[in-house]
Amino acid sequence: MNHAQRLLAFAGAAALCLVARAEPSTGPLLGFTPDNSAAQLKLEATYDAQLNPADLRGWLEQMAAEPNHVGTPHDKANAEFTLAKFKEWGWDARLEVFQVLYPTPKSVTLELVAPTRFTAKLHEPAIAGDRTSANTKDALPPYNAYGADGDVTAELVYVNQGMPDDYKELERHGISVKGRIVIARYGGGWRGLKPKLAYEHGAVGCLIYSDPKDDGYGLGDVYPKGGQRPADGVQRGSVADMPLYPGDPLTPGIGATADAKRLKIEDAKTILKIPVLPISYGDAQPLLAALDGTVVPPGWRGALPLTYHFGPGPAKVRLAISSDWSLKPIYNVIAFLSGSEHPDEWVLRGNHRDGWVFGAWDPLSGHIAMMAEAKAIGALAKQGWKPKRTLVYCSWDGEEPGLLGSTEWAEAHAEELQRKAVLYINSDTNTRGFLNPSGSHAFQELVNQVAGSVRDPQTGVSVLARLRARLQVDAAKPGASEDDKELAQLAAAGSVPIAALGSGSDFTPFLQHLTLATLNLDFSGEEQQDGVYHSIYDSFDHYDRFGDPGYHYGVALAQVIGRAMLRTADADVLPLQFKDTAATIGRYTTEVHKLLDALRSATEQKNKLLEQNAYVLAADPTQTYVPPARDSAVPFLNFAPLDNAVTRLTQSASSVDALLASAPVELAHMESSQRLELDSLLQGMEAAFGHAPGLPGREWFKHTIYAPGLLTGYGVKTLPGVREALEDRRWAEAEQYIGVTAGALNTYSDRLDRIATLLRQAPPKK
Ligand SMILES: [Zn+2]
Repeated sequence: MNHAQRLLAFAGAAALCLVARAEPSTGPLLGFTPDNSAAQLKLEATYDAQLNPADLRGWLEQMAAEPNHVGTPHDKANAEFTLAKFKEWGWDARLEVFQVLYPTPKSVTLELVAPTRFTAKLHEPAIAGDRTSANTKDALPPYNAYGADGDVTAELVYVNQGMPDDYKELERHGISVKGRIVIARYGGGWRGLKPKLAYEHGAVGCLIYSDPKDDGYGLGDVYPKGGQRPADGVQRGSVADMPLYPGDPLTPGIGATADAKRLKIEDAKTILKIPVLPISYGDAQPLLAALDGTVVPPGWRGALPLTYHFGPGPAKVRLAISSDWSLKPIYNVIAFLSGSEHPDEWVLRGNHRDGWVFGAWDPLSGHIAMMAEAKAIGALAKQGWKPKRTLVYCSWDGEEPGLLGSTEWAEAHAEELQRKAVLYINSDTNTRGFLNPSGSHAFQELVNQVAGSVRDPQTGVSVLARLRARLQVDAAKPGASEDDKELAQLAAAGSVPIAALGSGSDFTPFLQHLTLATLNLDFSGEEQQDGVYHSIYDSFDHYDRFGDPGYHYGVALAQVIGRAMLRTADADVLPLQFKDTAATIGRYTTEVHKLLDALRSATEQKNKLLEQNAYVLAADPTQTYVPPARDSAVPFLNFAPLDNAVTRLTQSASSVDALLASAPVELAHMESSQRLELDSLLQGMEAAFGHAPGLPGREWFKHTIYAPGLLTGYGVKTLPGVREALEDRRWAEAEQYIGVTAGALNTYSDRLDRIATLLRQAPPKK
């Protein structure tokens, strides 16, 4: 008897009250009548029985057998394999091809030319026991996609992680990177910001290396003894300016079809202006050892056996890169299973298929879970079941260089998606560990119900119970952050909060460009994968040992996402709950209030210290020290429109939630025109959060609640229009976006109020 059957056997029994109160699957499923809820749990048991870890292992071994980045024969072969499988499983599947700008290196050189000479290897050698690591015929050398071509020779400066605060620290020491080449270590923010900020500070080239402190021997044994990064391992990756817009740099906002109108390469704002190259710590060590000047602060030091200096010089390096800038085809596989009752409501699912080299973990570990779902759902359909809403499964190409496959498809089908999509669920990497739920908070309760019904493969409790336990233990640790404590408190009191989405995978175009409801789900936390991230060693052999031995978390992911897809597709009323959205936005609003207050007191303190000449007095007089500049005073802003909108949203959400609880039974008697209106309001709820002109300086990003930070990259900024304006001290813009965001919340509340009116008109249960 599996877990779902156990739940069924217990349904209605008083004993359930004694089971952990946290398991929410005790009543009918959200959005279902009691009868349909019981039937759905039976369906899920049949679905579970189709999932087989041996399938996942077999697909992974085959798909990760050869390099599969954009443009390789194996990338295309994997698309054709995925297409054939979907068809075999009964899906209406097709290839959708786009033509994208995808630069690949023709020649790459990095040399230390003074005070000694050293030529960087820029090569990841084969490793014993890793069978694919010698299979490099189609592999590219390590590189950063969308950096500029160039041939520059200049003094080297170490800039720590190359983030904004690091440049402020360099200023304190009187060090400029102008006309120089910077070397930054990975971490602290998105990789693409490192060369962008270096360029903005006048640097002519940028090297990014993996310090062993962050994902090498500082963390654990290196590959092949352990899973961490070996000395020659390199993290490839895109450096396109994706916080501006992701996707093909030449076709922002439109699909990159063969005949699309394209920008000239020199006009594409997301392509960087200086050459940039990722290197291993094996190659970085001689360069860093050749730097001199002041010793860096403690927080800047890595784990290499040397004293870290700022420079500049005497180390001088030459960096030369030339690339092939032609268009390449990308192959998305799109598969449909038509809905029987609401064919024009789509529940979408996606994972990318392209890797940087073999990509076993990133992305194929998530892709094989998605394939397992598609196979199991196909089997249900062959037994005569049909989803009520249409299921759409998407295998994306070209995610690594810039979310190309998903973005171009979403842009090409924008109007249809906005009309039909009810939810997009994404995954990417997946390993042993804990569920990480994030996304649109109207689906938080669905995620909790689903996670409460899936068994953790190692401990036997639900994946929700395991996640809740970890949140509580983390919050009890000395030094736990206020955020961690708040999260644990919320999780203890009720449903486990899901996180907000920034960027970094294929959910971005759906959530932030089209403002469609979106979730991202995966397991992680007990793997040793970071050290092979985007390197040639992210291989089948590595993943099989260090990622998810036995593929039980691949199956668990297929159970979690499969249930979420099936419940959303089959629910009598879409499984939405709005109080989580209201409560979460309320928390974000409190945060921006606090942010302004914190800025004000920090500014007052800093200016006072400057008046007292304290910074200079506290510095070592024998070292260069430049005190920070004075900041202008922080004004008081009017948050009232936002506060009032949150209060209204909270009330509207709670009314609708109460009405929705009985709606699945009552709606059977609703007039069809009213039912149509209700369905269309629920389908596109998230759209109310959209702001057509977009965020300041980046019109592609339309969502007023969630965005990747301009200066964090993948990291999320909630209430981004307000928060980023405050952080950047643009007070008038902050006030403007308080209004814009409040307007979006009020549009959402208007929609909720209309839903409440329709539900109140529904005839009572007969
Ligand atoms: Zn990925």
